[in-house]
Amino acid sequence: RGSTASKPPLHVCHIAVEMAPIAKVGGLADVVTAIGRAIQDNGHLVEIILPKYQFFNNSVLLGGKEYETHFDWAGTTIRVEKCKVEGLQCFFIEPQNNMFQTDSVYGRNDDAHRFNFFCNAALEFLVRTARQPDILHCHDWSSAEVARAYWEHYHHNGLTKPKVAFTIHNMNYGQAKLGEAVHHSQVATTVSPSYAGEVRGSPVIGNNGHKFTGVRNGIDPEIWDPETDIFVPVKYNADNQEEGKAAARAELRQRAGMTGWDDKPIVGVVSRLTAQKGVHLIKHAAHHTLSRGGQFVLLGSAPDPKIQGEFNGLANQLGGEDTGFFFAFDEPLSHLMYAGCDVILVPSMFEPCGLTQMISMRYGAVPVVRATGGLRDTVFDVDNEKERAAWEVGGSTDWKTDGDMTNGFSFEGTDEGSLNYALDRCLDAFYNDREWFRSLQKRVMLQDWSWNRPANDYEELYYKMIGR
Ligand code: ADP
Repeated sequence: RGSTASKPPLHVCHIAVEMAPIAKVGGLADVVTAIGRAIQDNGHLVEIILPKYQFFNNSVLLGGKEYETHFDWAGTTIRVEKCKVEGLQCFFIEPQNNMFQTDSVYGRNDDAHRFNFFCNAALEFLVRTARQPDILHCHDWSSAEVARAYWEHYHHNGLTKPKVAFTIHNMNYGQAKLGEAVHHSQVATTVSPSYAGEVRGSPVIGNNGHKFTGVRNGIDPEIWDPETDIFVPVKYNADNQEEGKAAARAELRQRAGMTGWDDKPIVGVVSRLTAQKGVHLIKHAAHHTLSRGGQFVLLGSAPDPKIQGEFNGLANQLGGEDTGFFFAFDEPLSHLMYAGCDVILVPSMFEPCGLTQMISMRYGAVPVVRATGGLRDTVFDVDNEKERAAWEVGGSTDWKTDGDMTNGFSFEGTDEGSLNYALDRCLDAFYNDREWFRSLQKRVMLQDWSWNRPANDYEELYYKMIGR
């Protein structure tokens, strides 16, 4: 990866409607904060422009807000405040027409109108304060308007310097707006290379494939760290994982009320239970794991009552001895799941990036995944993908000399037989060669799925956009 030592530091300005942890709805919020911090840590100037929502007034994280400026625009006054969040300089746009006096990010029927107004006001703020960022980075349909408005209205009116990067975190919402922003941006990205390949032919990308690329998301290695995790009963790292995971599995078994023999492999799922996540395969895996003498634990809940009903039925049918079903969104318990499970299953039908497989690895739970989207880019099958793993994980062209970097089990199809193909090989390894299985757990723990590499990829894209 190229050194940026000789290149000038960049000024990157994100314009977004979500940011973790102050305005978090989904992954978009985490990514804005994580990329922002990683790029700033590389020595660049990063600023983030957000709407000032009413619910910020109650946020303990925003205690140090200060007045920045105000100006009259579009028939109202725009007041701008600033505050550091997670070490990042944020600016909050507050139109005095009360447009953002809302208690949630989304959910009003004028969302599109309000976010368009916000995007234009953010650009106006940049002009009024004579900022000339190198890069404007906008995200999803909600700040797609930045790309269009910048090139149509602002580029010739004082805000001359920026190029526009646009990241699609979710292809399924606001496709007309996504397509518009892809058209107007200089670089468009989505959250993994394989997912980029899968959606390249979609109408959203159209004939803009040449500027479209995938950069995988990462996980925060400080938040997800079995060595310091307060929800892990005995802290551990790759060198002493056997003791740590044994303690976690014992606690998980107790929480789940599982009374079956305690040396069975525990297969876990941590997931929203929606069609995207492969609910039919999750249900099948529960049966199949038990038939193979293992234990099955699930943490998840279904927004759709019909799907939830099916899982309630499954839980009743399978009994409690060797299964645990937690139907909740429970962040602390998710940490114990990753630590206590031997295997984490992610059989998604599609997956733009996916975080669970990367978190699993950090906690020494072996991922069994369907090879789609970001799952394909992060999990490399122990039997079939030694070369691809060596190249993708280690940048090596010869796995025989540079070592085995495979890290899990994967399958291609969407049927039960395909899942069995991967899960059976994983369970066979657990039963037949425990020493090798433990060495695999150790190996996956040592791999780096942080933001280090993705941040360098974004940095490279930014420089390419400004011709450096
Ligand atoms: P998606 O964003 O499509 O739901 P990801 O894999 O990208 O899928 O992210 C899921 C995140 O949500 C992970 O951090 C996972 O640990 C967490 N998660 C999912 N379901 C639950 C749950 N029931 N309780 C706690 N955390 C959950």
